[in-house]
Amino acid sequence: MKTFSIAIHGGAGTLLKGQMTAEKEAAYKSALQDALDAGYAVLAEKGSSIDAVETAVKVLEDSPLFNAGKGSVFTAEGTHEMDAAIMEGKELKAGAVSLITGIKNPVSLARDVLEKSEHVFLAGEGAMRFAEQNTYKIEPSEYFYDELRYQQWQDLKGSDAFQLDHSVKKDSKFGTVGAVACDAFGTIAAATSTGGMTNKKWGRVGDSPMIGAGNYANNKTCAVSCTGSGEFFIRGVVAYDVSCLMEYKGLSLAEAASEVIQHRILKLGGDGGLIAVDAQGNIAMPFNTEGMYRGFRKSTEEGGIMIYKQ
Ligand code: ASP
Repeated sequence: MKTFSIAIHGGAGTLLKGQMTAEKEAAYKSALQDALDAGYAVLAEKGSSIDAVETAVKVLEDSPLFNAGKGSVFTAEGTHEMDAAIMEGKELKAGAVSLITGIKNPVSLARDVLEKSEHVFLAGEGAMRFAEQNTYKIEPSEYFYDELRYQQWQDLKGSDAFQLDHSVKKDSKFGTVGAVACDAFGTIAAATSTGGMTNKKWGRVGDSPMIGAGNYANNKTCAVSCTGSGEFFIRGVVAYDVSCLMEYKGLSLAEAASEVIQHRILKLGGDGGLIAVDAQGNIAMPFNTEGMYRGFRKSTEEGGIMIYKQ
């Protein structure tokens, strides 16, 4: 059997060690561990990489600690607008949604776009009609209410500023979530889900649901899920850029991922990180911020959960 592996992230950003209590750190690590275990279990039972990444991301979406699903940040209107994408690398099938509200697990709606529609990307009201047709329950806004997120929004409300969930002041919570996996059959997949940026308006959409920017998978090269300042990640077509460096320049997964995060996106002015896997089960998790909530496990290596630079 081939090596199988999975990596997850819960956002990259200004994660200063001194600002984290032992209790909080333990809570983040345990939520990340739950997601990693759930995704890994799918792979260990010979499940597909796309099932593994959807499973892991759902666990993170259900936690209030991360800016996705339940923990999504507030928009300028005091609502929650979520984006998600999922892609598999064998047939390059992809599904994505953006500007959706009231959906508990946006990653599953993205998966349904992939499986049940003729399309790749549905947005706003149309995406919500698709959700209704597929009998999704619409959660009331209280489901997404979180005191800290509300305070983050109060700090910016009425201004033109919008903010990355993870580069705010002191005790901010952090980010977008994602998973990448390589299954025992050598197929890779990526999924990403986010509430975007606090106080965002005008139907702002970040990189997370955009195939090639925040999320991408191709068995020939890699599967990638990004987190960071979305505008820069869109302009840098980050996830696809990692794939291109591997395909056209022959770089390894680690070299390509590092080149994009430590050089190319930094030059543009973007901060953040990504997790990536190739069809041999190798994993790369570079970031150019203080930290990135992340974890990995391989069939050949125990892996672990990490927050800061090692
Ligand atoms: N990349 C996400 C966005 O711009 C934010 C994040 O990674 O937390 O919507």
